[in-house]
This record gives sequence, C-alpha cells and structure tokens, in this order.
Amino acid sequence: MALYEKAPAKINLALDVLSKRDDGYHNVEMLMTTIDLADRIELCSLEQDRIKISLESRYVPSDERNLAYKAAYAFKKKYGINKGIHINIEKNIPVSAGLGGGSSDAAAVLRGLNRLWSLNIPMDELAELGATIGSDVPFCVYGNTGIAKGRGEIVERLASPPSCWVVLAKPDIGVSTRTIFQRINIENLTHPNTAEIIDALTNKDFKQMCANIGNALEEITLNVYPEVQRIKDVMRQAGAPGVLMSGSGPTVYSLIEHYSKAKRIYNGMRGFCQEVYLVRLLG
Ligand code: ATP
Repeated sequence: MALYEKAPAKINLALDVLSKRDDGYHNVEMLMTTIDLADRIELCSLEQDRIKISLESRYVPSDERNLAYKAAYAFKKKYGINKGIHINIEKNIPVSAGLGGGSSDAAAVLRGLNRLWSLNIPMDELAELGATIGSDVPFCVYGNTGIAKGRGEIVERLASPPSCWVVLAKPDIGVSTRTIFQRINIENLTHPNTAEIIDALTNKDFKQMCANIGNALEEITLNVYPEVQRIKDVMRQAGAPGVLMSGSGPTVYSLIEHYSKAKRIYNGMRGFCQEVYLVRLLG
C-alpha cells in the first residue's frame, strides 16, 4: 500500500541572524510560510529492512546523503522499527534555491512514516527529531506559517499571512547555504523588523507585510551573485510591491495581491529568467 505526503516549499518573510554560537552555529530568527509549490513523497513499506530512495534529479543524490533517507533512518532508529521503506520523491522544488526543498522532503517523510506505521507520535516530537536532520526541518514538520529560533529547533506557530500570489524567479545557479553563513559578519548585517511582520500577519495587513519583509543574508548573496540583484531590480521595475530573496538564495520572490498583476509580473519575468513560478501562499 502506498501513502502520499505533500512536501511544500517555504519562503522567508524574514530571516535574521542574531549571533554566532560557541557550537559554530548561528542563532537565527526565520519567519517562514509555505507555498503551493511542492515535492510529492510516496512511501511504500518493504518486507526487507532497508531504505530505498528513488528520484529523478541531476542535483540530488538518492543514497544516504538524501535528507529523506536521513529522516527515515532517524525515525526507524528512534522508534525501533525494523521494517523497510521505499521513498519515491517527485522533485518539483528547485534544488539549492533557498526554498527548503530538502528539509521539506525530510519533514514529509517523518509525517508520512508516522501515518504509515500508525504510531501517533505528536508533531512536537517529530519536530524535535527533525532538528537532528537540519535547521529548517522542525518548521517544515508543522508547515503553514511560523518563526524558527535558536538554530531553528524552536518553532512558534503564527497567524497566516493575508492571502496573495507569489512570483518566484530563480537564476540558473545554486547557492550553498553553508558558504553564505561562513561569510557572515554579525556587525555588518541589516536586520529585518520581524516584530512588524508578525504584527502584519495578526492584522492581515498586506501593505504592512510587504513593507517589512527582510533578509539579513541578502546583501551577502547579492555581493557574490550579482545576477540575483538584477532579478530583484527587474521585479521591482515590474511594479511588484514586496520583493525579497528567500533563505540564502538565489530565488527571489514577490508578493502580489491580485492575480492579474501577478500574471503580468510572472510573464515579464519569464522573458528574463528560465525558472519562474506563479503560486499561492498556503498560509
Ligand atoms: P535551505 O533554504 O533549507 O538551505 P535550499 O532550498 O537552499 O535549502 P535544498 O534544495 O534543500 O536547498 O538542497 C540543499 C542540498 O541538499 C543540495 O546539495 C542537495 O543535493 C542536498 N539534498 C539532500 N537531500 C535532498 C532532497 N531530498 N531534496 C533536495 N536537496 C537535497
């Protein structure tokens, strides 16, 4: 019997880096919301005790380096399960794009195995296990809208944003999150006003939200990859109200209230950039 789990991408409405920790990681504040661009995870129990990953992607390994594999391994180990699992990943989220695709796959595997093997493990416990796999995984376990603090393991759920359209444009490069974090100089960062965005979510105030979205990593990525700056400029010139890079990049998104305008910006960006998407916020 097969079970399916949706693994949606996320965008950062805010990404802040507060300090460097003694363990080498950074204390962050990442306000994220899921979007209607998703991988599709299919889970099938196997008689033999093994983890098999299948996917069609030039960029993602199908062995134990895959975050979905790591999630299944951690899950089986923690709950002492000696059944095997076949995980088929239909990859729709661009890779190394700042959209959290790998983390979302891992989170979907945790949720899916919980259902497949009827374990009734609470979400908070799955999120805790997710933190051992990656910083974005705890948020992805819950999905919707939330803020991840600490290394990403402390997740507070937030009100959904006002409904709107999202145009995403990804230049033809992949960005390594690790490389961008290594370039951080805490003193030089521009911090977003995260509290204002939370306020905007509570008030469902689209303008207030757009005026305050911010990403402390943006400047670093823009310096290394000027093509990301060019995409931002083109989106702004097209009249998009809120334009920001997601995660450590390189994907740039804009939030647009009305479909006709979103479609216009989407069409305009398609002439400029190969990978462009028009989706809704899932909230
Ligand atoms: P984030 O914003 O969380 O840093 P990202 O969107 O920038 O994530 P991903 O697409 O999650 O980046 O992939 C980053 C790296 O993880 C790539 O090197 C990729 O090969 C590896 N990876 C491992 N498993 C997966 C997976 N299931 N899907 C995508 N990438 C994966």
